[in-house]
Amino acid sequence: MLIYTGGTFGMVYDEDGSLAPFNFSLVIEKIPELQSLDLKLTVISFPDPVDSSNVDIEHWQAMAYIIKDHYEQYDAFVILHGTDTMAYTASALSFMFRGINKPIILTGAQIPIGATRSDARENLITALEIASTKNGKVPMLNEIAVYFNYYLLKGNRSQKIRSSNFAAFESENFPYLAESGVKIVFNESFMNTHDPQQKLEFYPKMDPNVVVLKIFPGITEEVVKSILNIKGLKGVVIESYGSGNIMSWRWMEELLRDAVSRGIFLYNVSQCMGGSVVQGRYETSKMLSDIGVISGHDITTEAALAKLMHLLGTERNVDIIKQKLNVSIRGELTVV
Ligand code: ASP
Repeated sequence: MLIYTGGTFGMVYDEDGSLAPFNFSLVIEKIPELQSLDLKLTVISFPDPVDSSNVDIEHWQAMAYIIKDHYEQYDAFVILHGTDTMAYTASALSFMFRGINKPIILTGAQIPIGATRSDARENLITALEIASTKNGKVPMLNEIAVYFNYYLLKGNRSQKIRSSNFAAFESENFPYLAESGVKIVFNESFMNTHDPQQKLEFYPKMDPNVVVLKIFPGITEEVVKSILNIKGLKGVVIESYGSGNIMSWRWMEELLRDAVSRGIFLYNVSQCMGGSVVQGRYETSKMLSDIGVISGHDITTEAALAKLMHLLGTERNVDIIKQKLNVSIRGELTVV
């Protein structure tokens, strides 16, 4: 099943010269190669395709329900999605499901399919080919992945790191799942294995009461105080420096301590793309462990946000939430 949600892939230029989503049934005609693939392809489209900058929790849920409702009938799912928030969606879907035993691949393009130099064609055709690849009798891919510019990445490890290069995505802290060259070479030791005992579990609820607080030199007490006192706030992804450090200023410590005492989950993620948070390596991060800030290890901000939304949306027990934040629940982090 091919699910078109929007994004540059199928966009066309409007009268003002801006790119806007387009009707996908017309887009698909632009890829005659699809007819020659040996696939029984069902294409469905969001009624109103969106630029992925407009993607919200409801769109994640809409995609998740399409997959869940058709899971038994189809061998694999390819989602066409804008690149801007593709890594967030891949992360969110990875938490909404457990026990995936089929390929679910997100892909998109940096240039619309109608344009001569478009990357859309290659991305879609290879994503479909990977989606239909078997390992013996079972699917090769058994998880959510992002395919872009010759690489298949683990979905909840992926990030959009370039806006004007075809190589838009990376998973700096996790090896590629596959590389497409003359042949598609799978990195099997890093891929989820097929487990027929495992039934699909579905957790569509997401709690939106979370925020990302990026630490920067010169951040003021007023700013941090306002963020940590947002009405209804339940979780904060703190984007810290390097291996998880933040300023050891008195007011910062007091504000964080106060937030933890009010039951807000503080999740420490590094601003660096590569490497891991190691709370306690420096004085400036030891304080965080003492306060009760939870280490996100090498998780991405995108996955951390989605994980907080998922755990806050599905789990009531505070200790279980804390414990799950600190470990991998869908392969989203590695504890070193
Ligand atoms: N703004 C577009 C989107 O995310 C960018 C893209 O698709 O590449 O929908």
